[in-house]
Amino acid sequence: MSNKGKLIVISGFSGAGKGTVVKGLVEKYGYSLSISATTRNPRPGEENGREYYFKTVDEFKTLIDYNGFIEWAQYVDNYYGTPRKFVEDELEAGKDVILEIEVQGAMNVKSQYPDAVLIFITTKDKETLKERLTGRGSEDAKTIEKRIKRAAEEAESIDAYEYIVINDDLSTCIDTVNSVILSRKCAKENNLEFISQIKNDFRLEGEI
Ligand code: ADP
Ligand code: 5GP
Repeated sequence: MSNKGKLIVISGFSGAGKGTVVKGLVEKYGYSLSISATTRNPRPGEENGREYYFKTVDEFKTLIDYNGFIEWAQYVDNYYGTPRKFVEDELEAGKDVILEIEVQGAMNVKSQYPDAVLIFITTKDKETLKERLTGRGSEDAKTIEKRIKRAAEEAESIDAYEYIVINDDLSTCIDTVNSVILSRKCAKENNLEFISQIKNDFRLEGEI
């Protein structure tokens, strides 16, 4: 198998539970999580460097200029970006890295890393999404409305994802996403070097 880590891109409608699922994947299965930079304000309880690196618009634009992001995008009224160095170092060290990013960023990553695994997490229906988004209590009514509008746009891009996982029961969802990643790592296409190596080893054995 390749010694390099795998890039795992997780997207989903705001309020679908991506953040909660990703936290579970990190805690239960030890994935490495990329911490994004954003210009949005911290929610109560969020800490700089833990949930996000919180930046001003000027700081964010400087990072863009210095090629500091693998990808960045505008979402509702703010910028979000994936810092380059952490991801490249972790992959090089053989770690599987999760990016929890929106749809435009996901497409951008796929074009740079064709073997990235793209997973879309959703609630079973729109009502559940609205309940979770409202229940989280972190945004005002206007922002929730904008996020639901954005969800309607994002729904049009679901087909671009390779795997769709419904977040109904949380722990089932975490285990399912982990299974998807494991299954992808075992796919033939991801093991061409290994296949060729083991074939070769046995051919040499045959010659002795
Ligand atoms: P996202 O990161 O997709 O915006 P969050 O992880 O913040 O979503 O989850 C939105 C809300 O839904 C939170 O209050 C969270 O506790 C809750 N939640 C997440 N997953 C589930 C689940 N499987 N069942 C019930 N509530 C959930
Ligand atoms: P939130 O404000 O709810 O934390 O995130 C809003 C949206 O931005 C979510 O869809 C989240 O996945 C996405 N997002 C978070 N970080 C990044 C990033 O680095 N790049 C991109 N493209 N989207 C991100």
